[in-house]
Amino acid sequence: MILELARSKEKDIVSLRRLLHQHPEVAHREFQTHKILLEHLERLDAEIRAPIAGTGIVVNIKGKKGGKTVALRADIDALPIKEENDVPYKSLNDGFMHACGHDAHMSMVYGAALILSEMRDNLPGNVRLIFQPAEEEGTVGGAKPMIEEGALEGVDYILGMHVWPELPEGTVGYRSGPFFAAADTFTLDIIGKGGHGAKPDMTVDPIVVSSRVIEALQTISSREIDPLEPVVVTVGSIHGGTAQNIIPDRVEMKGTVRTMNPVTRERMEETMRRIIGGVTSSARASFSLNYIYGYPVLINDKDVTEIVRSNLENLIGKEKVVEAKQTMGGEDFAYYLQKVPGTFLLLGVYNEKLGYVNSVHTSRFNLNESILPFGSAIFVSAALELFKH
Ligand SMILES: [Zn+2]
Ligand SMILES: [Zn+2]
Repeated sequence: MILELARSKEKDIVSLRRLLHQHPEVAHREFQTHKILLEHLERLDAEIRAPIAGTGIVVNIKGKKGGKTVALRADIDALPIKEENDVPYKSLNDGFMHACGHDAHMSMVYGAALILSEMRDNLPGNVRLIFQPAEEEGTVGGAKPMIEEGALEGVDYILGMHVWPELPEGTVGYRSGPFFAAADTFTLDIIGKGGHGAKPDMTVDPIVVSSRVIEALQTISSREIDPLEPVVVTVGSIHGGTAQNIIPDRVEMKGTVRTMNPVTRERMEETMRRIIGGVTSSARASFSLNYIYGYPVLINDKDVTEIVRSNLENLIGKEKVVEAKQTMGGEDFAYYLQKVPGTFLLLGVYNEKLGYVNSVHTSRFNLNESILPFGSAIFVSAALELFKH
């Protein structure tokens, strides 16, 4: 019944998705997106608060019977990627693309809102829509400022969902407990003493020291942390030197640290400082480390996840509901889950037959739009179930 109701909204849902897909905007600059969303949300029988946290929007669909409040969250930003899909709704904003599917997230939440606002007279609870900027930004993000400006006030439970090309189309991935990693970043400068490339004894070569530092950092996961605890230390950028025969003064690196356990996360900066300090001092070099805390570990609430999982099995069939693997990716939905119980789901969109096989964050990512009303139905069904708890 909910699935059919959602299917009847397919045209509206897909047309909003295409409009959003044509106008991708990066973190904190989602002005057109904000405008398009507002124009659509104003058609609902609902209370709107905008702007919030820059380009965010909060909507209240209040049932006439009171009750619990369930929040549905969508992120709204896109990525600086040039789209290579040849589709009629291709990005009009050259060099930018909804390559993480946040256009799908917005339209699925919108679809759920269309259904729920029609049910308003008999709705046994309230629904809060949270359209949040800057999920891709990585450090401050959009969820935290939204919470600081009151987006979660009065909310009992929260639900979020990400389209996921690692799962087959039509399946839904759930997971209790830690799910997405804490995503911290760092900049590291190795400071030596430059000179002639043929007279290394007169210098402190930061390039040789950097290579030892990078290797030594890899021993954190293999020799410092419980092997059953996932840890990633990646140096993703390294710059130093100008010519083949000059030893530079310094080397600059950037990297990311991913952990799945908040206790392990706490140890990372200190461990890195000790190891980098040891390697650099043994070579007469010094260092400067700027460790930046990003999104925390995303931890799904056990009870809510169980309620939603069993509701999903009834809605779409047991075989379509799968326990998802943990991912070392970050997601600022984590901040909401620090405040209210909820769960973050993955919606499978991999479809080999139709050619939807590309990962998120690539120039050819796309999905079968008929999955979108299905996502809306999941939100509606889960919200209705959570009203009872
Ligand atoms: Zn992304
Ligand atoms: Zn995303």
